[in-house]
Amino acid sequence: MSAPLIVLGAGPAGLAAAEAASSSGQAVLLVDDNSAPGGQIWRGGPQRWRDARASVLWDALRARPHVTFMAGARVVAPAGPQALLLETADGALIQPWDKVIVCSGARELLLPFPGWTLPGVTGAGGLQALIKGGMALAGKRVVVAGTGPLLLAVAATVREHGGVLVALAEHRTSSDLARFGARLALAHQGKLLQSLQLAARLRGVPYLRGAGIVSAEGSGRLERVLLRQRGRDEVLDCDFLACGFGLVPSLELGTLFGCALEQGRVVVDAAQRTSVQGVWAAGESTGIGGVDKALAQGRIAGLDAAGIAPRTADLRARARAQAFAELLAHSFAPLPALRAMCTGPTIVCRCEDVVAADLAPHTGWRSAKLQTRAGMGPCQGRVCGAACEFLHGWEAPGLRQPVFPASAATLALPQAQTQAQTERVDTVTRAHPALPQQQTN
Ligand SMILES: Cc1cc2nc3c(=O)[nH]c(=O)nc-3n(C[C@H](O)[C@H](O)[C@H](O)COP(=O)(O)OP(=O)(O)OC[C@H]3O[C@@H](n4cnc5c(N)ncnc54)[C@H](O)[C@@H]3O)c2cc1C
Repeated sequence: MSAPLIVLGAGPAGLAAAEAASSSGQAVLLVDDNSAPGGQIWRGGPQRWRDARASVLWDALRARPHVTFMAGARVVAPAGPQALLLETADGALIQPWDKVIVCSGARELLLPFPGWTLPGVTGAGGLQALIKGGMALAGKRVVVAGTGPLLLAVAATVREHGGVLVALAEHRTSSDLARFGARLALAHQGKLLQSLQLAARLRGVPYLRGAGIVSAEGSGRLERVLLRQRGRDEVLDCDFLACGFGLVPSLELGTLFGCALEQGRVVVDAAQRTSVQGVWAAGESTGIGGVDKALAQGRIAGLDAAGIAPRTADLRARARAQAFAELLAHSFAPLPALRAMCTGPTIVCRCEDVVAADLAPHTGWRSAKLQTRAGMGPCQGRVCGAACEFLHGWEAPGLRQPVFPASAATLALPQAQTQAQTERVDTVTRAHPALPQQQTN
């Protein structure tokens, strides 16, 4: 039997890659650490999807007997040159690979400010994920703050689930937003329509522009947020503060395979091939760009991995989506003024309780890690790494294997398996002393 193509990540990029590759009969193993497919944007499982594109992809995959979906399995480390170590709730397993498509997505950029570690303060996408996961929000007062279009999507989700939107605070000014709107009108009318539809769902919500977070306050949990708009401070009582400053590509899997990285993303060529033979990448891990880019890149990667040339329509869709991604990056890059949110006593590394003042004397990650333990807790710098890159210009610390925390039993599996194989060979050799050892392997 030929080895299946392995697609890591079942978000839009992974679903599109798996569908495109399997359409020609290629066997595909789709792996995700969530219990259901869909990734970030289509979170919650097929029964909750409203985007027809998700259902079309999933229905096609389910109808193909040569496609297997392995849910709740996280790739944590390599288990030899062509094998992966996966951890599941039922234990660990080793999966050999021949060809792989990495579709590991993105995570939120969380920037520190006084009070950001209080219960009730979340990332904007994080709150959305909690809501999609079933958290009750009816009657809760929510402030959504930060910058970028994800704030609108999150605010709409909050309202739809009965949350009371106290305010939507965008750090960019009205003129920045007008410029963005004009560029959308020129080149991305579909996206402009989507933004207007979202805005219509948010009618009546106070929309503060040029507004920044000063602090989140409360005793034991969030009670209020202090915002500053044009030099004027405003205190807003609330139960949740959902803050979003953009996304950063998840690089764990790209690092695991040894793929070349550049400017915080996995480098790919026109066919979505990485620098490593047999490894493709698609979606947010190759650069933040949204669902349309993830779908187009996923299709191209899937077809190429199955030995099929991409269609012109896919190449056009990718080019369009990439142009939109560049516009987004240009229009909503976090402004340097946001660095001022982080004051001396503000916690920056929440795993090790390291505050900004402790990090200030250092000139890079190495000395900061050695002397403060910043970035050395359970998240291994996944949160404070990106924050310090923004605050101090320090390149995020390189990831080590295992790229995700894993149990000792999981990490011991490759060694245990090698030992068991050696013992088996010994036993067979002892039973058939005349047999040359290579033949028993
Ligand atoms: C918190 C959050 C909320 C978002 N909400 C929206 C929104 O409302 N609207 C919008 O337009 N865009 C949203 N986005 C942007 C969104 O990421 C993209 O539009 C789209 O989902 C990208 O698709 P993708 O397939 O590249 O990545 P994802 O959808 O992120 O899928 C990646 C998948 O890979 C899995 N994975 C990663 N590492 C491993 C591993 N080691 N082992 C196994 N599985 C792994 C992840 O669990 C995930 O399911 C959000 C992003 C984030 C981070």
